[in-house]
Amino acid sequence: IFSDVPQAPPDAIFKLTAAYKADTYDKKVNLGVGAYRDDDGKPWVLPSVKMAKRALLENEDIDHEYLGITGLNEFTSSAAKLILGSSSEAISEKRVSSVQTISGTGANHLGAVFLNKFYPFDKAGGQRQIYISNPTWANHKAIFNSVGIKPVDYPWYDAKTVGLDFEGLTKTLKEAPKQSVFLLHACAHNPTGVDPTKEQWKQIADLFEQQGHYAFFDCAYQGFASGNLDEDAYSVRLFIERRTIPVLVCQSFAKNAGLYGERIGALHIVSTTPERAAAVTSQLSVIQRSEISNPPAFGARIVTMILNEPKLWDQWQKDVTTMADRIISMRKSLHSLLVEKYKTPAPGGNWDHILKQIGMFTFLGLNEKQCALIVNEGHIYMTSNSRISMAGLTTKNVEYVASWIDKAARS
Ligand code: PMP
Repeated sequence: IFSDVPQAPPDAIFKLTAAYKADTYDKKVNLGVGAYRDDDGKPWVLPSVKMAKRALLENEDIDHEYLGITGLNEFTSSAAKLILGSSSEAISEKRVSSVQTISGTGANHLGAVFLNKFYPFDKAGGQRQIYISNPTWANHKAIFNSVGIKPVDYPWYDAKTVGLDFEGLTKTLKEAPKQSVFLLHACAHNPTGVDPTKEQWKQIADLFEQQGHYAFFDCAYQGFASGNLDEDAYSVRLFIERRTIPVLVCQSFAKNAGLYGERIGALHIVSTTPERAAAVTSQLSVIQRSEISNPPAFGARIVTMILNEPKLWDQWQKDVTTMADRIISMRKSLHSLLVEKYKTPAPGGNWDHILKQIGMFTFLGLNEKQCALIVNEGHIYMTSNSRISMAGLTTKNVEYVASWIDKAARS
């Protein structure tokens, strides 16, 4: 038995981390993994999370019983307010089905299974498919393929401008069959760091309205893009406020609360009536039961405290700003080193995209060969599409990294 099982390739990002760990070179840098690091290159436990953990440990009333199938109610309701806004009409009108999930990945998966079961693909050109940006987080393809929904690319990144291919995107929105499903990154697009402007988001929303498309929002970086949680929820709230665009939102607390390993997230599906929302919740509950029975409690309790206790909330705002600001300052350092110190030739004519791109990642715009040089000779670990995690840069290693980007760009 199993003699015919072929060896699957290792996950590219995790393979990169393993290679980094095995490397003994003292100047090695890991810019592959999308996890925040402090200026010493160390994982950072947020002070607000530390405060919540301390309070949890001291609370004798906390037991280890199962949560409900859809998770901790206080968590899902406060998580919904965080992403949809505290004055969201969809929430006050009870039109939101919120379910606690295994972080953002679990939210994407649950959303995918739900759509596969209930989305009227027959009215969307008859194809069981979802449009995803080219490029996107690699797991999107795997998640939708695994449930039987075919991922189809839509243009996003323009290599010539190292920016958004707005024309290509809007053309696809217009030409896709009506009621198609489109996956959108709510902010801080992974891997490109290329986000639409507010004006462009409005035009995108107009097209969703006109074409009756379904917006599948993935929000893994709320707070990480600008340092402001409301600002980063702009696109999601804009679409929902239109009331005519059907929307679901996948939410992760991995990055903005630094709770990567605790697997805490939520799926929010917005319906047109409270009755429909209740039916949707009941079906999500059925799916969740067969897959994980009930989600884990620890992260849900931490996030609930952070979102509801004023002292922790205030601290969390500071923590999110600390992370976003450090990343923005690394963008400035890398940019000025390349432009002023090394005078490095830039793929799109200038390096301004390092300053303009948003969130944890920068897409340098280098080709595969140039990236391989940086990895193999510079011992700087990054993906072959030239994505670097800005969170892996520190005041100590940024100059070394810039020197290798310079060498690669001239190669
Ligand atoms: N979506 C996107 C776009 C991401 O970048 C990530 C994290 N890399 C996720 C979802 C999910 O991450 P997690 O499951 O750790 O919340």
